[in-house]
Amino acid sequence: MTEHQHKSGFETRAIHAGYEPDPVTGAVIPPIHATSTFKQDGVGGLRGGYEYSRSANPTRTVLEANLAALEEGERGFAFASGLAAEDTLVRALCRPGDHVVLPDDAYGGTFRLFDKVERAWGLVHDPAPASDPEAVRAAIRPGATRLVWVETPTNPLLGIGDIQVLAGIAHDAGALLVVDNTFASPYLQQPLTLGADVVMHSTTKYCGGHSDVVGGALVVRDHDLAEALAFHQNAMGAVAGPFDAWLVLRGLKTLGVRMDRHCENAERVVEYLSGHPAVAEVFYPGLESHPGHEVARRQMRRFGGIVSFRVTGGEQQALAVCARTEVFTLGESLGGVESLIEHPGRMTHASVAGTALEVPSDLVRLSVGIETADDLLADLERALA
Ligand code: PLP
Repeated sequence: MTEHQHKSGFETRAIHAGYEPDPVTGAVIPPIHATSTFKQDGVGGLRGGYEYSRSANPTRTVLEANLAALEEGERGFAFASGLAAEDTLVRALCRPGDHVVLPDDAYGGTFRLFDKVERAWGLVHDPAPASDPEAVRAAIRPGATRLVWVETPTNPLLGIGDIQVLAGIAHDAGALLVVDNTFASPYLQQPLTLGADVVMHSTTKYCGGHSDVVGGALVVRDHDLAEALAFHQNAMGAVAGPFDAWLVLRGLKTLGVRMDRHCENAERVVEYLSGHPAVAEVFYPGLESHPGHEVARRQMRRFGGIVSFRVTGGEQQALAVCARTEVFTLGESLGGVESLIEHPGRMTHASVAGTALEVPSDLVRLSVGIETADDLLADLERALA
């Protein structure tokens, strides 16, 4: 990236950072380097540092540089999934016996990774609400806590954590603050600029944006952290393949315009649901009544495309609403151009049933897409009738 682009706006970086048109062909878009290995000019004579695609691949390099530019970090790392990124991060930074503070409202798969996989490896964890800094401070075990892990907004209840305050609390205890920025995307919020040490993404979601790829990412500012992640990315091997890296890169180019439309449509949906007699409660950080509204306003550009709500008729009604929509497709995941609806208790968060992270059974989560807003409202009206 040129000096000029370093100072440029988000959308310019999204489209250009990490790639100059190919010097040989002029190709404006980076090729998909579908190669496992690279010819060496004599033993150790690597061209551009490339030797084997687990260690580095030119398509992945472009994506990693682009992500770093968008998050205002120094280095980015692309993985085969969000959970692969998380596992690599944990093993790079923690050792058996270390302790991690987790959100009490985390993505179910993140909790399962810590509770079922990392715990067996000797890592202990405690849940704390990221929206309550004093509860996070109290959950820290002095000397043992290595990571404070935060999602903001959280999945699925849209809780908000104050990144700046939480970074201070983590650092006071000698721990690092990790922010899962999947729900906000780098367009709405850049945690590294607020003091976080590591940003994590499921690029499957808004970064990819078209529900056609599974991927993950980590971005850091610190050189030593970057070296530890680079070593583990290669040593553990859960990397993004070149085609997947290319799809995420293509998605990132339109992230800004997509996010603006996701937010606009979500605001319309929130307004509609807030007055509906079949809706008991709406969760959206853009609502002035949301307890995290002021913090969200400070640290986010807008409030995102995810809306959750509880229905008045209990779990059966929540399931019925999920089954009745036609424009909102019933399915897991989020962040694609198409609107999705799901029942967290039985779907994305089934793995936290019976734990402190269990979600209400009458909860419905919407990933509001970028279709015509009136069609989305009409679809919800039919489903809630
Ligand atoms: N973090 C959040 C907030 C998520 O929503 C998800 C997936 O739904 C993940 C992490 C895990 O990412 P992946 O499914 O790409 O492994």
